[in-house]
Amino acid sequence: MKKLFLLLMSVPLMVYSQRDYSAMQVSHNEVAPGLYRLFVGNSVAVVAFNGPDGLLLIDAAYEQTIRQLRDTLNSLFKKPVRYLVNTHLHGDHTGGNVEFGKEADIISHHSVKAWLKSDRKLGDNNVGALFRNAVPNLTFEGTFYLDFNGQNIQMRHLGGGHTEGDIIIYFPESNVLVVGDLLFAGFFPFIDVSQGGNPLVFIENLQWITKSYPEDAVVIGGHGPVFAMDQVKEYLFNLQQTIKVISDARKKGMTADEMKQNHILKKWESYGTFFITEDRWIDIVFPFTAK
Ligand SMILES: [Zn+2]
Repeated sequence: MKKLFLLLMSVPLMVYSQRDYSAMQVSHNEVAPGLYRLFVGNSVAVVAFNGPDGLLLIDAAYEQTIRQLRDTLNSLFKKPVRYLVNTHLHGDHTGGNVEFGKEADIISHHSVKAWLKSDRKLGDNNVGALFRNAVPNLTFEGTFYLDFNGQNIQMRHLGGGHTEGDIIIYFPESNVLVVGDLLFAGFFPFIDVSQGGNPLVFIENLQWITKSYPEDAVVIGGHGPVFAMDQVKEYLFNLQQTIKVISDARKKGMTADEMKQNHILKKWESYGTFFITEDRWIDIVFPFTAK
């Protein structure tokens, strides 16, 4: 199993082609009035916000799970999507753009639009540019506010952690914060260094989030369960500890391989059970620590 995981990690596109998407189901949970967390394949979060102005979606999961997501939205709301927000560029969040972009305006950071309309490569595979309707048409830097369904929804660019174009979305009346892949709730996060990610910036951004929003906010990450702000703080604390352990080991002269052999992150074993293993987390963090 571990070997399979390593293989999948080295060829990101294979992750998508080897899963059985047709069997994936979409569960839903109303976290605040009109605000739903949908969970696709028990893996990727989508947020739906419904009200008199219409339906807003945050992320659209995989291209291969469009049917299930559409069925769920139809059964819950029976209306088209007016706005689709992309938290970042990855295919497990933007895959559904090709479907929902036919009816919705798509909002994202500038860099997500630039990436999706470019001649994209994933690993060695050329996946090409998306069609016009699947590419964000409302993009921003800094902060963007949308008055919708009685809330002044705040979208803020907080980039350079998971990817360059990460944005977070806050619903002030519901006190719900959607942070995309800045939260792999309870698991080591994936840091996409090739798309401008950096584990140390990831920590800084998470720290900023815990200081900038209410203590009782509900936080929805891209993967893992819905968290209370206290749980986000605990998660942040644990990630900081793992980075300190790796950094201290490097100062003592250990190589990344020796850290893996010695299981220096054993205490956080459960964090390595979703996508990024302990070993992979060491590989991600190691280059960003000092000798
Ligand atoms: Zn991602």
